[in-house]
Amino acid sequence: MASDKKLIIANWKMNLDMHEASLYLHKLSKMVKVHRDIEVVLAPTSLTLQSLSLQVNLKQFKLAAQNFYWRDSGPYTGEISATQLRGIVQYALVGHSERRHVFNENDKDIRNKVAAAIRNNIRPILCVGETAWEHANNETRDVIHDQLAGGLANITSEELDKIVIAYEPVWAISAGQGSTPVNVLPDDVQMAFQAVRSQIKHLYGEKASDSIQVLYGGSVTGDSVADYLALPGVNGLLVGWASLNANTFNEILEIAHKSASAKKKD
Ligand code: PEP
Repeated sequence: MASDKKLIIANWKMNLDMHEASLYLHKLSKMVKVHRDIEVVLAPTSLTLQSLSLQVNLKQFKLAAQNFYWRDSGPYTGEISATQLRGIVQYALVGHSERRHVFNENDKDIRNKVAAAIRNNIRPILCVGETAWEHANNETRDVIHDQLAGGLANITSEELDKIVIAYEPVWAISAGQGSTPVNVLPDDVQMAFQAVRSQIKHLYGEKASDSIQVLYGGSVTGDSVADYLALPGVNGLLVGWASLNANTFNEILEIAHKSASAKKKD
């Protein structure tokens, strides 16, 4: 059964070297309190994962891989596998828009990665979302449906329980870099979440659609955290740029905790 905690994920992308990542974790772990209503996940570069796995307190933070190859081992120069990540990470991003659009990952790659993560006891965070062009042409719903059908092909209902979905409009990712962040309208987020849950319902039934964890990501800052988390059905956030500074990310976590506990009292 999927957890009802708010999941807050820091995607550091290709930033922070080994020394900076270790200092960040040291600083953040001194600031962050363990709250039962939120789960905090750090997604550093592959290079720093192993050393952070030795430093991290798993009660406080979990780790995620940003990427991996779907085969378990073999002649694939330059790649790392989910089998090699087993025991080091608890989560892995799959199908992030930068993988889809910069590195041309397709639905077949993505569905193989989802399956590889599950097979290796790692929870995949399957990212879906439309480009600016698709958004302008009212294709959001179709894109989400197609990406979910493609990424989840061959996944059973039992396996679905281990999967997290992240809706990230491509046009809002890394846009603004804090000074003028793109604020995706609540109606657009609601419509996209509805598209995610309706496709999950179509593929796996109503119970699965109600219980699957769905996150929002795209230019989230401390100013927008509470608004996004207040939307019905938003189970957490994927934060890129605003997670690169430990102080800023700690503020985001505090706001997330306050809104999670306020929602519980409603
Ligand atoms: C991301 O990388 O998933 C992301 C949401 O980035 P940003 O917050 O910088 O838009």
